[in-house]
Amino acid sequence: MKEMKNKKHRSGFDRVAFLKRVIVVLLLICLIAPSVMCVFILKTLNDSMSRLENELDELSETIRVMNENNFAYRNNRLSLDDTFVNEPIVWRERNSSEDGYGKQFEGRKVYLTFDDGPSSNTGRILDILKEYGVKATFFVVGKPDAVYSDVYRRIVNEGHTIGMHSYSHKYGSIYSSEESFKDDLEKIQNFIYDTTGVWSVYYRFPGGSSNSVSSVPMDKLISFLNEEDIIYYDWNVSSGDADSGYIPVQRIIDRSIAGVGRFPHEAVVLFHDADEKDTTVEALPAIIEAIQGMDNTEMLPITEDTMPLTHITLTGENEDMEG
Ligand SMILES: [Zn+2]
Repeated sequence: MKEMKNKKHRSGFDRVAFLKRVIVVLLLICLIAPSVMCVFILKTLNDSMSRLENELDELSETIRVMNENNFAYRNNRLSLDDTFVNEPIVWRERNSSEDGYGKQFEGRKVYLTFDDGPSSNTGRILDILKEYGVKATFFVVGKPDAVYSDVYRRIVNEGHTIGMHSYSHKYGSIYSSEESFKDDLEKIQNFIYDTTGVWSVYYRFPGGSSNSVSSVPMDKLISFLNEEDIIYYDWNVSSGDADSGYIPVQRIIDRSIAGVGRFPHEAVVLFHDADEKDTTVEALPAIIEAIQGMDNTEMLPITEDTMPLTHITLTGENEDMEG
């Protein structure tokens, strides 16, 4: 009797233990299952996100190349023959006369141009240009800080062309009125003269002549430059070094070389001379070597013999904004 009671007791315990185990297992399942689900969902989300990101990258790259090709096509067409006078791009009047642009050299002329300097990188750029025996063009802004005085002078002393890129480089003020544009121009022209002794007659509009930020019609500003005997230059090859904050060296090299390759007569290449543009400096030797290796090609500084290359079109169509 006592034994039976014990047996009953034990099986009671067994049931309790069994129930306990079931509860523990259920609890574990309840705890683990959502975690596993969460991990799975997160992983799926993450995968989709990176796929989307890649697709977005590809899309923006495609758009960029399409824009670039559109612009390159039109400029290439112009530079392939000399009938550009009646083409949609407005060239300075002096181009229409055969007054000797590019008479000295019949091959491809490449103009390396550096905007926005001087900067902490100007010295490195000048060192590289010196090493390769290349002359370039610097479209500078006004930096009255004494540390830059020697940099402006070094640009000039080493045989490069010093051009103007506005004094302040502030779109908001330069392009707010004709008067403020003139004031800024006068300021940078005098500043360069006072610092280097050179009266610069070359100009590159901040954002290019095709910028869409100017409150003043660009043709008014261009007429003013003409009156002042100042020649403005845009570019037909962008190194892409200002597309975003950090641009890999190889990308700058590839874009620059491919860009120059598209223009058999004249390539004006846009680079930026700025503190944070280290990869531009690092890309420069390979770019110079590649151009030096191209047939019948010469790198030159912009001079009065350089055929002005401009973005402004008769239809007022705008090109990509950089510079
Ligand atoms: Zn600029």
